[in-house]
Amino acid sequence: MELKPRIEETRWDPSKELELLKLWDEEKSSAKPDEWRGKEVFVIDTPPPYASGKWHVGGAAHYAQIDMIARYFRLKGYYVLAPFYADRNGLPVEVQVEKTYGINAKEFASTPEGRRKFLQLCRDFLDRAEADLVRIWRRMGCDFEYWKDGTDSPRYRTITQATFIRLFREGLIYEAERPVRWCPRCGTTLAEAEIEYDERDDYLYYVKYKLADSDDYLVVATTRPELIPACAAIVYNPKDSRYKGLAGRKAIAPLFGHEVVILEHPSVDMNFGTGLEMVCSYGDEDDVRLFRELGLKPKVIVDERGVMTSEAGFLAGLPVEEARKRVAEELERNGLLVRKERIRHTVPVCWRCKTPLQIINRRELFLRQLDYKDRLKELISTIKFAPEFHRRKLIDWIDSISMDWPISRDRYYGTEIPLWRCTKCGALLVPEPGRYYRPWEEEPPWSSCPVCGAPKEYLVGERRVFDTWFDSSISMLYATRWAEDPEFYQKASGNVLRPQGEDIIRTWLYYTLLRVYQLTGRPAFRWVRITGMGLDPKGRPMHKSLGNVIDPEP
Ligand SMILES: [Zn+2]
Ligand SMILES: [Zn+2]
Ligand SMILES: [Zn+2]
Repeated sequence: MELKPRIEETRWDPSKELELLKLWDEEKSSAKPDEWRGKEVFVIDTPPPYASGKWHVGGAAHYAQIDMIARYFRLKGYYVLAPFYADRNGLPVEVQVEKTYGINAKEFASTPEGRRKFLQLCRDFLDRAEADLVRIWRRMGCDFEYWKDGTDSPRYRTITQATFIRLFREGLIYEAERPVRWCPRCGTTLAEAEIEYDERDDYLYYVKYKLADSDDYLVVATTRPELIPACAAIVYNPKDSRYKGLAGRKAIAPLFGHEVVILEHPSVDMNFGTGLEMVCSYGDEDDVRLFRELGLKPKVIVDERGVMTSEAGFLAGLPVEEARKRVAEELERNGLLVRKERIRHTVPVCWRCKTPLQIINRRELFLRQLDYKDRLKELISTIKFAPEFHRRKLIDWIDSISMDWPISRDRYYGTEIPLWRCTKCGALLVPEPGRYYRPWEEEPPWSSCPVCGAPKEYLVGERRVFDTWFDSSISMLYATRWAEDPEFYQKASGNVLRPQGEDIIRTWLYYTLLRVYQLTGRPAFRWVRITGMGLDPKGRPMHKSLGNVIDPEP
């Protein structure tokens, strides 16, 4: 028998793909919803892409590979669930809307009316971006199950809120005021996972501190002289013979005139600067730790906008970077600056906008994570990683975590924290899980405070939203229908694959493992598959501004 090719043309015609897509759609509409019964179930925890713009070919390739895995398991006889829905919570869309309409969210959304309008503008933008993504993967022939309910849908948010309510009641979530990393541009607290480190060129200033009881002076090197008004101590290493016997004496802060104590501390790097280090309120994590350890009283000199407060004397009202220049000039004019030298050092910056971060004192909600580090590492040893070496990155990240996870954010386009506060007795009240709550615009679900009996007027709704990773970290539970279909979840939850990019190991992967363990006591995944980033031939990321974007559409 002579085999004849079904396609005679020697040149591929992409319009043939359209016919094929139509055929697939017809076949799919005849599929039964409970087809999974009687089959092995395999679930892919598809990364819900952030709906912010079109994919380039790298993004498209990522999803094409996921589709390939789904098809492989389908051919092997599994019932494969590979959902596709969008991640729509978070700051990027807010920034986009602010830019497009020339508005400031914090002002625009300060009233419930304005907040509703702002959220609608965000939603419209997200709808357009999501439609683009769906068109692209459909056109590529990916066979995902499209779920219109993204992470901002009442359905998804109901589940996010239910997980909060449960963990709050179990004592895994608490509110506390403590120093946190803060992005002055975004106006929000950041979790450790959201901090990036940038190499920057700055000056190292060598500043004179006169001793209080003599005319001698010390020279202290610092990259942040604007923090002198918040300096409470000068420390040196007890092994440093240059400063032997200084501990316990006092020095005078240059320009600001207050007394600072001189102390020994083994954490001081003898080779940095002169071996003397300023300890300033909220300067960096070391300073925060030293303040606590040495029992010093912190002073707030930088506010939430990154502007110096009235506690900063003549620097009041200046943004941090300007205050630095100003104080350096004053030091120089008064003969208090010995010299300055260029240094290259790392500065913590916001992962979204690259603004240098400040530390400020904030009252936030925290999810316990420090207590889970060892248990999570055990859990990870049961998961299969491909490629294997990424397991190490995850474990190193877990080892580096040093505080609980701040989950509350002063933003708008996110899942509302379902919480009311009694202004009479101070109680924090969580409602019954099972529906979507918007405490900033709805009546409290109690007729009086359940703790002290104060009338309804005393109950104030929470205005903050969750860190977006608090939402996206339950994607596995959403895909396996944990909250909605216990039978399916039971069958599916042991056979889940997480395919994802290497850039979000410490966020999406880590947080999912943490949250799913806290909620179910089990590992979220059987397999984790990590892919790299799609780059151009020169190894650069594809970006509109570089003009190197390759469009995946024919
Ligand atoms: Zn930022
Ligand atoms: Zn320091
Ligand atoms: Zn009360």
